Amino acid sequence: MRAAYDSYMSSSNSVCSSSVVPSARVVSFEDARHLVEQQAAGVCSGEAETVDLPAGLGRVLAEGILADRDFPPFARATRDGYAVRAADLAKVPARLDVVGEVKAGDWPEAGMCSVGPGQAVGIMTGAPLPAGADAVVMVEHTSLLADQFPGSPAGKVEVRRSVSVGENFVPRGAEARAGQLLLDRGRRLDHAGMAIAASVGKSRVQVFRKPRVAVLSTGDEVIEIDATPGPAEIRNSNSYSLAAQVQNAGGEAVRLTIAPDERKPLRALIEEGFGCDLLLLTGGVSMGKYDLVEQVLSELKAEFYFIGAEIQPGRPVVFGSCSAGALARADGGSAVGTRARAPALHKKYFFGLPGNPVSTMVTFELFARPMVEALAGMTPQPLIFLRARLKSEIRTKTGLKRFLPAVLSGEFENAEVELARWQGSGDIAALARANCYVVVPPDREQIDAGEWVSLLMR
Ligand code: AMP
Ligand code: MG
Repeated sequence: MRAAYDSYMSSSNSVCSSSVVPSARVVSFEDARHLVEQQAAGVCSGEAETVDLPAGLGRVLAEGILADRDFPPFARATRDGYAVRAADLAKVPARLDVVGEVKAGDWPEAGMCSVGPGQAVGIMTGAPLPAGADAVVMVEHTSLLADQFPGSPAGKVEVRRSVSVGENFVPRGAEARAGQLLLDRGRRLDHAGMAIAASVGKSRVQVFRKPRVAVLSTGDEVIEIDATPGPAEIRNSNSYSLAAQVQNAGGEAVRLTIAPDERKPLRALIEEGFGCDLLLLTGGVSMGKYDLVEQVLSELKAEFYFIGAEIQPGRPVVFGSCSAGALARADGGSAVGTRARAPALHKKYFFGLPGNPVSTMVTFELFARPMVEALAGMTPQPLIFLRARLKSEIRTKTGLKRFLPAVLSGEFENAEVELARWQGSGDIAALARANCYVVVPPDREQIDAGEWVSLLMR
């Protein structure tokens, strides 16, 4: 404590965190988000690796996935029933001769199994439509007449419903043509993407290297989670929540040692963190006397894009970058951050997230996530809020866009949302009970029960 205080007093006389970065501003939520999006465009290193398809889940594709043949590769029945000529069923009921059967996996050779006038072929879902047929009639609308040839599909069928040409089958190539792009490079592989890759025979896929994201918690009161806390100490929860969020966003978290509120060790850890692709700091960005993060970053010639956003929680959030050259010079020419192996990008970005655990989580989702995703090679995704009806009224102050922990409940079409009771941005117990945030516009003092509100899911 004493050391931190002395170092603070000797290095800066009554420096407040915003005074060290006069050009940067406190900006609206939307401007802050757009500033991040602008910087995030094109930051991906482009380095790729090839992995087995199952290991590709959650990874970002470094290659486009093309259809290796037409989809479907043949006219595919979508119902069990009979392949017919629609014209034969203009008048119903009608009787047709059953001249064969195709099940999924059969390939009806031309001439062997085709549908002529007045004929039908039994067909199963997923089977190829035989030549001559132009529709499938569902088995539910038919009756097979007395079985004249037991064990053989031959016989007569009575059809009670008409069909139109094209009904109940998908023509060859209707879903995609051979060579067509099915999944874009830059797309994160989810279960639907897995289905596509598997369908075109990609047992191995090329994905981008995961960006390494340094997570640096700061604060004299913050201790490692396996240490016994003193009366005024708190365990470092932020490094763990952030590491989880980084992983969810497609990055690989590198948790650094906790930095004290002391200039020298803080700077050494910041420099170490810059060895990664991105640096996330938590704590030390407010206006307090020991909030040194911005000062140390200024010493490293950081450029600040904003030093606050008009939001709550998370107003003191900071976003900036250091040029790789300036970092190398500050390090006396030796490589900064030998622990991390990121390639030299010309800028290293950082976020200073407020230390309050809920503020840390919210500001990560709003601002740091798109940067992690971009570094991971993902195509930019706009942030979209969902809507739900408010269960009980909200009263708040105007001036800031608020992201308030809330519980979305109900069932099916009857979703409703209400604020979680919480004690403010440090209340992780309330946040764990919540499953979303209600987004309150800065000009609203009161929102009545029954109104539609915006939600950010978590
Ligand atoms: P700060 O942003 O440094 O002013 O911290 C704001 C609040 O967040 C204080 O109550 C801190 O004790 C708390 N806090 C800061 N860092 C962490 C952390 N890594 N884990 C949990 N709480 C933290
Ligand atoms: Mg602090």
